[in-house]
Amino acid sequence: MTDDELHGHLIGQQGSRHSLNTPALVIDRDALDRNIAAMARYAAAQGVHLRPHAKTHKSPDIARRQLAAGAIGICCAKIGEAEVLADNGVTHGLHLTSPLVSSPAIARLVALNQRTDGLMCVVDNPENVRALSVAAHASGKSLNVIIDIDPGMHRTGVNSAEAAARLFDAIEQAGSLHYAGVQCYCGAQQHIADFGDRRRAMEDRAENIRSIIAALTLVGGKPAIVTGGGTGTHRIDPALGLFTELQVGSYVFMDGEYLACDLTGDDQPAPFETALMVDARVVSANTPGMVTLDAGIKAFATDAGNPAVVSGAPAGSTYRFMGDEHGALLLPDRGTLPLGHIVTLAAPHCDPTVNLYDTYHVVEGDTLRMLWPVAARGRSR
Ligand code: PLP
Ligand code: MN
Repeated sequence: MTDDELHGHLIGQQGSRHSLNTPALVIDRDALDRNIAAMARYAAAQGVHLRPHAKTHKSPDIARRQLAAGAIGICCAKIGEAEVLADNGVTHGLHLTSPLVSSPAIARLVALNQRTDGLMCVVDNPENVRALSVAAHASGKSLNVIIDIDPGMHRTGVNSAEAAARLFDAIEQAGSLHYAGVQCYCGAQQHIADFGDRRRAMEDRAENIRSIIAALTLVGGKPAIVTGGGTGTHRIDPALGLFTELQVGSYVFMDGEYLACDLTGDDQPAPFETALMVDARVVSANTPGMVTLDAGIKAFATDAGNPAVVSGAPAGSTYRFMGDEHGALLLPDRGTLPLGHIVTLAAPHCDPTVNLYDTYHVVEGDTLRMLWPVAARGRSR
């Protein structure tokens, strides 16, 4: 971290978290590393691979930590994310989990394929298969494709055994494509609050995935890779006997939505900790029982309720959005906090919150250790 880099982030004493310019996106480095290690240990014990999703963190620094802990590759939602990872040395086992259909996107995909190894992308449409084949052929390097299976939410993927078999046939007919397997990401099941309900929902989905894999196997398309799964179902997916790898994303940071879910189905504490926070500062304190923080709608994704207070305020304090730039911190007993005081909040939904910031402030306790760029911020195309 250079002095120049630090300069823009600190308003006072060098290296102190309390001197951060706010609102600041903060990572607790030890909690992050414990989350990465916990998921890596779990996957190894279950005999499934990990290909964690970079849509959550958009960070080559974090992707490298996940790979160092044993991940076989990294998932990306969009080509722009994958390009940023590759530009920063993450060049092995990238997987694009959303279809790429426009010709500029396909041109970028085959260009990325040439400078990386093991790149994969999903397909759910024969026309798209033909377009990818033409581009891969012109590039001179074969491209790995994964058949996306619709888990029932009709977002992407083929939604019948017949459609899957037809798509496999299209891949086999087309040149310069290598059929690598299938993907099924059950997004609608991830946040079912009760573990038993979540497991039953996944068992129901698994029936459908199994029948599609059976149909593919009959026509010679037994998948070598079955990729899917998220943080919400990671304790359920391996036992289904379907997945060869998990695409978990949010576990690195955790967020309010996942803290509200029972992730384990037993009395054990949650396996992952809040590692991502926003530090905000008291900028006005003129009303008893309330202070105003400098973090509002521009500081948190707003699709999942209010941020929780992590530290810096008395027990029972709650945050409410109060406009673009501000939040109200409601304090018990008509209390107040001094001007300039730092309050630490947790993101209700981590992925879209991260996308609001340029920089992670990586702390160890109260010491600022590193700045990591949110390098793929805004790279949603
Ligand atoms: N795979 C896909 C296709 C996703 O869209 C997502 C998240 O939305 C994930 C994996 C990661 O899921 P989670 O953040 O629940 O771990
Ligand atoms: Mn999410």
